[in-house]
Amino acid sequence: MNTDLASLTDLGGVNALELAPDGVIIVDAEGRITYANRNCQQVLGWTPEELLGECIDRLVPGRFPRHAALREKYTATASLRPMGAGLKLCALHRSGAEVPVDIALNPVMIAGVPHVVVALRDMRPYRAALHELDMLSVAVDAAAGGVVITDTEGVITWVNPAACRMTGYAASELVGSRPSLLKSGRHDPVFYQQLWETVRSGAVWRGLMINRTRSGSEYHEEQTIAPVRGADGTITHFIAIKQDVTERVQAEAQLREARDQLTRHVAEVERLHVELREQALRDSLSGLYNRRYLDETLIRELAKASWDRTPVTLVMLDLDHFKILNDTHGHAAGDRVIAALGGVLRRRTRMSDVACRYGGEEFAVVLLGAELQAGINSANDWRGQLGAVSRTDGIGGGVTFSAGVVQWRPGETGQELIARADAALYRAKRAGRNTVVGE
Ligand code: GH3
Ligand code: MG
Ligand code: MG
Repeated sequence: MNTDLASLTDLGGVNALELAPDGVIIVDAEGRITYANRNCQQVLGWTPEELLGECIDRLVPGRFPRHAALREKYTATASLRPMGAGLKLCALHRSGAEVPVDIALNPVMIAGVPHVVVALRDMRPYRAALHELDMLSVAVDAAAGGVVITDTEGVITWVNPAACRMTGYAASELVGSRPSLLKSGRHDPVFYQQLWETVRSGAVWRGLMINRTRSGSEYHEEQTIAPVRGADGTITHFIAIKQDVTERVQAEAQLREARDQLTRHVAEVERLHVELREQALRDSLSGLYNRRYLDETLIRELAKASWDRTPVTLVMLDLDHFKILNDTHGHAAGDRVIAALGGVLRRRTRMSDVACRYGGEEFAVVLLGAELQAGINSANDWRGQLGAVSRTDGIGGGVTFSAGVVQWRPGETGQELIARADAALYRAKRAGRNTVVGE
């Protein structure tokens, strides 16, 4: 191209070279500056007027002493050529500082004389951004957590060393694969579907996942997956940050198991405790409480009755002519009668009443909240019930008992109450048996 400077810069009254965002300098074959646009001041600190007539070598830092020679060689075989890609090139600022620049060289004939148009791009802002990026990538490389970046199709584009350590795969194996490479089969498809739906919608997914390493062992990882958006706001990548929490999960599981085991043991101990207490307080033949429990009950319930003034009635029972029954039908038949009377007393008393086997074939029933007459009525009811049961039991009926019924008097002890009931029972026997005496 053969032109003059005016036609190069004049674009219908507008200086085209002033419109360029870069610093533009034109030098002749000797390296003398014949033109510089206003942007040069921004990049180099010199005004265009100061640069005119100066040698271009003045703008090159002293650590490039071969510049003049290289420039001359270039002038001899000038061609369109970019320089400095990768930010290795520097220009010397008026202040003496070095400015990172990208340079494009373009030979041009001006008025029949070879010149070179030099476009200088100030790379300082890019260098700062790149430096920041360098720092971030050092940090991510050194991070203990695994970092995996995928594209929007879910194909891995980048991993850090920790991700390789966690998974056992080399970076070259992971990049180009999909995260499903690590699937353990422990989650159903809906789990992964929800994960992808979350991140594709632009939200962050957090959760625990069981994955499988290259060697086939399972591990638990805590993941945070976040979408990355491009300048236009659309999602370009997904970044997953992973933490291996296998040890924590296992420790938690062990703790849970230990706690469950402890809970089971405590429940078992409690059950045994209740059973033992029951055994200590219950008579196995009749299924009723024993004499020890009667004594405990009287102490407790009479104290309560003194306080709230509710009535308490005690019924003492003794089977009639039991010796004869034993002798006639055998001891086992006698036992069946004791068990049958136990059944009657359990069925025909209220929850709050306490029925006990007091001795061999003697029984005592504490009726809480009941007055004398209610006690007499109950005793007569049990008499009828026992008659009915014994008739169907093969003993042939005729099994009876006598009973003494007394209502507690305030101030009276349990033993005094029992003694009075015994006396009433004795009177019932004397009265001919199969009788209830109340007083
Ligand atoms: P009474 O009408 O005067 O009460 O006459 P009884 O024959 O029932 O006389 P007593 O109450 O003194 O007799 C108690 C008998 O009960 C003695 C014993 O053989 C019998 N006996 C006590 N405990 C048991 C037991 O657990 N099983 C059986 N089969 N018999 C028992
Ligand atoms: Mg007796
Ligand atoms: Mg008897």
